[in-house]
Amino acid sequence: MAKLFVICGHGAGDPGADGGGYTEAERVRALAARIKALGGSEVELGDTSRNWYRDGGISRLETTAPVVELHMDASGVPGAHGAHVIVKKGFEPDEYDRALADKLAAFMPGRAEKIVHHSELANVNRAARRGINYRLVENGFIDSEEDREKFNGHLDELARIYLEVFGITASSATSEPEAGASGSGSTGFEGGTYRCTVDTLNVRDEPGLSGSVVASYHKNQTVVLDSWYKVADGYVWGRYTGATSGKLRYVAVGRATGKPEADDYLVRVE
Ligand SMILES: [Zn+2]
Repeated sequence: MAKLFVICGHGAGDPGADGGGYTEAERVRALAARIKALGGSEVELGDTSRNWYRDGGISRLETTAPVVELHMDASGVPGAHGAHVIVKKGFEPDEYDRALADKLAAFMPGRAEKIVHHSELANVNRAARRGINYRLVENGFIDSEEDREKFNGHLDELARIYLEVFGITASSATSEPEAGASGSGSTGFEGGTYRCTVDTLNVRDEPGLSGSVVASYHKNQTVVLDSWYKVADGYVWGRYTGATSGKLRYVAVGRATGKPEADDYLVRVE
Protein backbone atom coordinates (compact mmCIF):
# COMPACT_ATOMS: atom_id res chain seq x y z
CA MET A 1 0.00 0.00 0.00
CA ALA A 2 1.23 3.43 -0.86
CA LYS A 3 2.70 5.46 1.99
CA LEU A 4 2.83 8.68 0.01
CA PHE A 5 0.72 10.20 -2.75
CA VAL A 6 2.58 12.82 -4.81
CA ILE A 7 0.87 15.60 -6.77
CA CYS A 8 2.86 17.84 -9.10
CA GLY A 9 1.84 21.49 -9.17
CA HIS A 10 0.84 23.25 -12.42
CA GLY A 11 1.14 21.37 -15.74
CA ALA A 12 -1.29 20.78 -18.61
CA GLY A 13 -0.14 24.00 -20.26
CA ASP A 14 0.49 25.96 -17.05
CA PRO A 15 4.28 26.21 -16.61
CA GLY A 16 4.05 27.80 -13.14
CA ALA A 17 6.95 30.00 -12.09
CA ASP A 18 10.17 30.16 -14.05
CA GLY A 19 13.81 31.08 -13.61
CA GLY A 20 17.17 30.37 -15.20
CA GLY A 21 15.58 28.68 -18.20
CA TYR A 22 13.56 26.26 -16.09
CA THR A 23 9.85 26.04 -15.39
CA GLU A 24 8.30 25.03 -12.10
CA ALA A 25 5.98 22.49 -13.77
CA GLU A 26 8.89 20.62 -15.38
CA ARG A 27 11.17 20.73 -12.32
CA VAL A 28 8.59 19.43 -9.84
CA ARG A 29 7.80 16.60 -12.28
CA ALA A 30 11.49 15.72 -12.45
CA LEU A 31 11.56 15.62 -8.63
CA ALA A 32 8.38 13.53 -8.45
CA ALA A 33 9.81 11.09 -11.00
CA ARG A 34 12.86 10.55 -8.78
CA ILE A 35 10.70 10.14 -5.65
CA LYS A 36 8.71 7.49 -7.53
CA ALA A 37 11.76 5.80 -9.07
CA LEU A 38 13.55 5.55 -5.71
CA GLY A 39 10.46 4.84 -3.62
CA GLY A 40 8.85 2.22 -5.87
CA SER A 41 5.41 0.82 -5.04
CA GLU A 42 5.16 2.69 -1.74
CA VAL A 43 4.93 5.93 -3.69
CA GLU A 44 1.83 6.69 -5.73
CA LEU A 45 2.41 9.36 -8.35
CA GLY A 46 -0.69 11.32 -9.34
CA ASP A 47 -1.20 11.75 -13.10
CA THR A 48 1.53 14.23 -14.05
CA SER A 49 -0.21 15.23 -17.29
CA ARG A 50 -2.92 16.94 -15.24
CA ASN A 51 -3.16 20.31 -13.57
CA TRP A 52 -4.61 19.26 -10.20
CA TYR A 53 -5.38 22.81 -9.18
CA ARG A 54 -7.37 23.62 -12.30
CA ASP A 55 -9.23 20.31 -12.61
CA GLY A 56 -10.06 20.11 -8.90
CA GLY A 57 -8.58 16.61 -8.67
CA ILE A 58 -8.22 16.71 -4.89
CA SER A 59 -11.98 16.97 -4.55
CA ARG A 60 -12.24 13.50 -6.12
CA LEU A 61 -8.98 11.95 -4.92
CA GLU A 62 -9.46 8.61 -3.15
CA THR A 63 -6.40 7.75 -1.11
CA THR A 64 -5.63 6.86 2.47
CA ALA A 65 -1.97 7.81 1.99
CA PRO A 66 -0.66 11.21 3.09
CA VAL A 67 -0.50 13.63 0.16
CA VAL A 68 2.24 16.06 -0.77
CA GLU A 69 1.87 18.62 -3.56
CA LEU A 70 5.15 19.83 -5.06
CA HIS A 71 5.83 23.43 -6.07
CA MET A 72 8.66 25.93 -6.33
CA ASP A 73 8.42 29.56 -5.27
CA ALA A 74 9.31 32.66 -7.24
CA SER A 75 9.66 36.10 -5.74
CA GLY A 76 11.42 38.46 -8.09
CA VAL A 77 13.18 39.67 -4.94
CA PRO A 78 16.95 39.20 -5.20
CA GLY A 79 18.28 36.91 -2.52
CA ALA A 80 14.97 35.26 -1.59
CA HIS A 81 15.58 31.55 -1.24
CA GLY A 82 14.77 28.46 0.81
CA ALA A 83 12.12 25.76 1.04
CA HIS A 84 9.01 25.70 3.23
CA VAL A 85 5.89 23.67 3.95
CA ILE A 86 2.34 25.08 3.70
CA VAL A 87 -0.54 23.69 5.77
CA LYS A 88 -4.14 24.75 6.27
CA LYS A 89 -4.68 27.71 8.56
CA GLY A 90 -5.93 26.55 11.94
CA PHE A 91 -4.46 23.05 11.53
CA GLU A 92 -1.74 21.84 13.83
CA PRO A 93 1.24 20.62 11.74
CA ASP A 94 1.58 16.85 12.17
CA GLU A 95 4.75 14.79 12.47
CA TYR A 96 5.12 14.61 8.67
CA ASP A 97 4.83 18.39 8.30
CA ARG A 98 7.35 19.02 11.05
CA ALA A 99 9.89 16.44 9.83
CA LEU A 100 9.55 17.62 6.25
CA ALA A 101 9.92 21.28 7.24
CA ASP A 102 13.00 20.56 9.36
CA LYS A 103 14.77 18.48 6.70
CA LEU A 104 13.89 20.76 3.80
CA ALA A 105 14.97 23.85 5.72
CA ALA A 106 18.29 22.16 6.47
CA PHE A 107 18.67 21.10 2.81
CA MET A 108 17.61 24.44 1.35
CA PRO A 109 17.76 27.10 4.06
CA GLY A 110 16.63 30.70 3.76
CA ARG A 111 13.01 30.96 4.94
CA ALA A 112 12.33 32.46 8.34
CA GLU A 113 9.21 30.29 8.71
CA LYS A 114 9.64 26.60 7.93
CA ILE A 115 5.90 25.97 8.17
CA VAL A 116 3.39 28.55 6.94
CA HIS A 117 -0.40 28.45 7.40
CA HIS A 118 -2.66 29.51 4.54
CA SER A 119 -6.41 29.87 4.23
CA GLU A 120 -6.73 30.99 0.60
CA LEU A 121 -5.12 28.17 -1.39
CA ALA A 122 -7.72 26.07 -3.23
CA ASN A 123 -6.03 22.68 -2.97
CA VAL A 124 -5.11 23.21 0.69
CA ASN A 125 -8.79 23.94 1.41
CA ARG A 126 -10.15 21.10 -0.74
CA ALA A 127 -7.91 18.59 1.07
CA ALA A 128 -8.86 20.01 4.47
CA ARG A 129 -12.59 19.74 3.68
CA ARG A 130 -12.20 16.08 2.74
CA GLY A 131 -9.98 15.14 5.68
CA ILE A 132 -7.04 14.28 3.42
CA ASN A 133 -3.67 14.35 5.15
CA TYR A 134 -2.14 16.99 2.89
CA ARG A 135 0.62 19.57 2.68
CA LEU A 136 1.93 21.77 -0.14
CA VAL A 137 5.70 22.14 -0.37
CA GLU A 138 7.60 24.98 -1.98
CA ASN A 139 10.91 23.31 -2.90
CA GLY A 140 12.90 26.54 -2.88
CA PHE A 141 12.74 29.49 -5.27
CA ILE A 142 13.07 28.72 -8.97
CA ASP A 143 14.27 32.30 -9.53
CA SER A 144 17.07 31.85 -6.98
CA GLU A 145 20.28 30.61 -8.58
CA GLU A 146 21.35 29.18 -5.23
CA ASP A 147 18.15 27.13 -4.83
CA ARG A 148 18.16 26.04 -8.48
CA GLU A 149 21.70 24.72 -8.24
CA LYS A 150 20.85 22.85 -5.06
CA PHE A 151 17.66 21.45 -6.59
CA ASN A 152 19.20 20.45 -9.93
CA GLY A 153 22.49 19.17 -8.56
CA HIS A 154 21.04 17.17 -5.66
CA LEU A 155 17.73 15.93 -7.01
CA ASP A 156 18.07 12.42 -5.56
CA GLU A 157 19.05 13.82 -2.16
CA LEU A 158 15.90 15.96 -2.21
CA ALA A 159 13.79 12.97 -3.31
CA ARG A 160 15.22 10.90 -0.44
CA ILE A 161 14.10 13.52 2.09
CA TYR A 162 10.50 12.79 1.09
CA LEU A 163 11.04 9.03 1.29
CA GLU A 164 12.65 9.27 4.71
CA VAL A 165 9.92 11.51 6.16
CA PHE A 166 7.14 9.19 4.97
CA GLY A 167 8.91 6.02 6.14
CA ILE A 168 9.73 4.65 2.70
CA THR A 169 12.92 2.69 2.12
CA ALA A 170 14.68 3.88 -1.01
CA SER A 171 15.06 0.96 -3.37
CA SER A 172 18.69 0.10 -4.04
CA ALA A 173 17.69 -1.57 -7.29
CA THR A 174 16.71 1.69 -8.89
CA SER A 175 19.12 4.02 -7.16
CA GLU A 176 22.13 5.03 -9.19
CA PRO A 177 25.61 5.37 -7.76
CA GLU A 178 26.36 9.02 -7.16
CA ALA A 179 29.87 8.51 -8.53
CA GLY A 180 31.14 11.66 -10.13
CA ALA A 181 28.29 13.82 -8.89
CA SER A 182 29.94 17.17 -8.70
CA GLY A 183 29.23 20.74 -9.65
CA SER A 184 32.76 22.05 -9.86
CA GLY A 185 36.28 21.22 -10.90
CA SER A 186 37.68 20.60 -14.35
CA THR A 187 36.72 16.94 -14.35
CA GLY A 188 33.38 17.45 -12.60
CA PHE A 189 30.17 17.29 -14.55
CA GLU A 190 27.66 20.08 -14.15
CA GLY A 191 23.96 19.42 -14.31
CA GLY A 192 21.76 21.92 -16.08
CA THR A 193 20.25 22.71 -19.45
CA TYR A 194 22.17 21.35 -22.41
CA ARG A 195 21.65 22.07 -26.10
CA CYS A 196 22.09 19.43 -28.79
CA THR A 197 24.72 20.40 -31.41
CA VAL A 198 24.38 17.43 -33.75
CA ASP A 199 21.62 16.40 -36.16
CA THR A 200 20.63 13.31 -34.17
CA LEU A 201 21.65 12.24 -30.68
CA ASN A 202 20.41 8.91 -29.38
CA VAL A 203 18.80 8.55 -25.95
CA ARG A 204 19.47 5.17 -24.35
CA ASP A 205 18.13 3.19 -21.40
CA GLU A 206 21.65 2.44 -20.12
CA PRO A 207 24.79 4.61 -20.00
CA GLY A 208 26.81 3.09 -22.85
CA LEU A 209 26.52 2.06 -26.47
CA SER A 210 24.96 -1.27 -25.43
CA GLY A 211 21.90 0.57 -24.07
CA SER A 212 18.77 0.40 -26.22
CA VAL A 213 17.88 3.55 -28.14
CA VAL A 214 14.56 4.79 -26.74
CA ALA A 215 14.37 8.29 -28.23
CA SER A 216 16.55 10.93 -29.89
CA TYR A 217 17.37 14.59 -29.68
CA HIS A 218 17.90 16.83 -32.66
CA LYS A 219 19.95 19.93 -33.31
CA ASN A 220 19.14 22.88 -30.98
CA GLN A 221 16.75 20.89 -28.80
CA THR A 222 17.50 21.18 -25.09
CA VAL A 223 17.61 18.62 -22.30
CA VAL A 224 18.00 19.15 -18.55
CA LEU A 225 20.65 16.79 -17.16
CA ASP A 226 21.25 16.14 -13.49
CA SER A 227 24.79 16.17 -12.07
CA TRP A 228 25.37 12.41 -12.38
CA TYR A 229 27.69 11.22 -15.12
CA LYS A 230 29.57 8.13 -16.18
CA VAL A 231 32.39 7.46 -18.63
CA ALA A 232 31.72 4.43 -20.84
CA ASP A 233 32.73 3.35 -24.34
CA GLY A 234 34.89 6.46 -24.70
CA TYR A 235 32.08 8.90 -24.02
CA VAL A 236 30.82 10.92 -21.08
CA TRP A 237 27.18 9.96 -20.44
CA GLY A 238 24.75 12.34 -18.83
CA ARG A 239 21.41 11.46 -17.33
CA TYR A 240 17.87 12.76 -16.97
CA THR A 241 14.56 11.34 -15.85
CA GLY A 242 11.94 10.92 -18.56
CA ALA A 243 9.07 13.28 -17.76
CA THR A 244 6.34 10.80 -18.62
CA SER A 245 8.10 7.43 -18.17
CA GLY A 246 9.76 8.39 -14.87
CA LYS A 247 12.69 6.25 -16.04
CA LEU A 248 16.34 7.18 -16.17
CA ARG A 249 17.54 8.07 -19.68
CA TYR A 250 21.13 8.49 -20.84
CA VAL A 251 22.77 10.54 -23.58
CA ALA A 252 26.38 10.85 -24.73
CA VAL A 253 27.48 14.40 -23.89
CA GLY A 254 30.74 14.10 -25.83
CA ARG A 255 34.04 12.24 -26.07
CA ALA A 256 35.61 11.48 -22.69
CA THR A 257 38.54 13.93 -22.57
CA GLY A 258 38.11 15.13 -18.97
CA LYS A 259 36.75 18.54 -19.94
CA PRO A 260 34.12 20.17 -22.16
CA GLU A 261 35.16 20.25 -25.84
CA ALA A 262 34.09 22.36 -28.80
CA ASP A 263 32.74 19.31 -30.61
CA ASP A 264 30.64 17.96 -27.72
CA TYR A 265 27.20 16.69 -28.74
CA LEU A 266 25.59 18.56 -25.86
CA VAL A 267 26.78 21.97 -24.69
CA ARG A 268 25.67 23.61 -21.46
CA VAL A 269 23.35 26.55 -22.10
CA GLU A 270 23.94 28.49 -18.89
ZN1 LIG B 1 3.49 26.68 -7.82
